[in-house]
Amino acid sequence: MLRLYNTVTGNQEPFQPLEAGVARVYTCGPTVYDYAHIGNFRTFVFQDLVTRYLRYSNYEVMHVMNITDVDDKTIRNAHAQGMSLKDYTAKYTEAFLEDARTLNIELPALLPRATDHIPEMVQLIRRLEEKGYTYRKDGSVYFSIARFAGYGKLSKKDFTGIQAAGRVDSDEYEKKDDARDFVLWKAAKEGEDYWETELGPGRPGWHIECSAMSMKYLGPTFDMHCGGVDLIFPHHENEIAQSEAATGKPFVRHWLHAEFLLVEGEKMAKSKGNYFTLRDLLAAGHAPAAIRYLLLSVNYRRQLNFTTDGLHQAAASVRRLEDFLLRMREKSGAGEPSSAFAAVVDAAHQKFVEALDDDLNTSAALAVLFDFVRSAYQLDEQGTLSRGDARAALNYFEDINRVLAVLRMQPELPDADIMKRIEERQAARRRRDFAEADRIRDGLLAQGIQLEDTKDGVRWKRNR
Ligand SMILES: [Zn+2]
Repeated sequence: MLRLYNTVTGNQEPFQPLEAGVARVYTCGPTVYDYAHIGNFRTFVFQDLVTRYLRYSNYEVMHVMNITDVDDKTIRNAHAQGMSLKDYTAKYTEAFLEDARTLNIELPALLPRATDHIPEMVQLIRRLEEKGYTYRKDGSVYFSIARFAGYGKLSKKDFTGIQAAGRVDSDEYEKKDDARDFVLWKAAKEGEDYWETELGPGRPGWHIECSAMSMKYLGPTFDMHCGGVDLIFPHHENEIAQSEAATGKPFVRHWLHAEFLLVEGEKMAKSKGNYFTLRDLLAAGHAPAAIRYLLLSVNYRRQLNFTTDGLHQAAASVRRLEDFLLRMREKSGAGEPSSAFAAVVDAAHQKFVEALDDDLNTSAALAVLFDFVRSAYQLDEQGTLSRGDARAALNYFEDINRVLAVLRMQPELPDADIMKRIEERQAARRRRDFAEADRIRDGLLAQGIQLEDTKDGVRWKRNR
């Protein structure tokens, strides 16, 4: 049974969804004001692991991730670029989706944008007004945290006795521990984008969008809400307050938060020069599979120190797994695996599931994988690995890769490049440089391209 640490209770608990077999999951998506950085992608890859593992565990997953396309930063940057908010955020939304696909992140069917849900947000704010949780000031609407008894239950901050809290208008607090009444609706300001609504002209604050969109698609109470630890306060604390105040029902059953990512031991900051987008890392020659592997290799509740060394080690680990797959592909054939080998596969499968059931312990799950590779290689060297055994090993890898998604992630080699390599190999053969010819053939094979020499010339096919 899957057990997960729940930020709100501080305990590891069995995951028991409201409806048997269905997991309703909301994950906070990107604010599309710039390219997402590698710290953001730690959280997105973690969220991908969660939803992939729920699916692997036979849950039907209803996954919603929002796109924040209106807030202080998007408006500021769009104006600085002389672009409309819509065009500006469309560009960075597309970039985010492309980056997510590069990292093999399965995108949810529902990716609601904040600006497409202004009426839902207005309606939610109206409900809060009717119930007396808000007040107006200079055309803006604020949530009064003193009126919501449960305020602080997620972040474990003690706000009892707060009578009149100060107001905060910005979408992100500067002081992380500050208890402030937060803005639900911001009065229109000179030069800022706004909507004409029954609340008056203005735009939503950041927090309200997640309550409005999650409850619209998943209902007033749903199973799981994920994000980075930096969102616990104030963003998720405010989401709970708004949602539960409006509905009178519990908002979320399991809260999951991924820890920070450090770069070379330090907090990432543009000013320190240790700030990397995914594109920066790809341009430096790092493979998507190695980046994804490194992000997955540390358990989500521990800080991850992202280093160049770590990336090289991750690349070596992926290569070891890919080499193993290649060997198993060469070797595999018809026939049942031996009962001894079938038992090895079963044991590895069971341990893999046990590791992930234990609060998504990815480092233990990867260790299981490498133990398995070692045992299979041993049998192969002893000459006791049958074609059926190799086939079973391949099937096992295919199965667990549904969760990890780190294998066979190299971009497909374009046909023209393949033809060029084949010509180079033919040239090497003509000058009787067979070592070079073999090197080219093996290189292509490692990229999933298999050559076949026939009397009519060289044929090739993709091995996947
Ligand atoms: Zn959110």
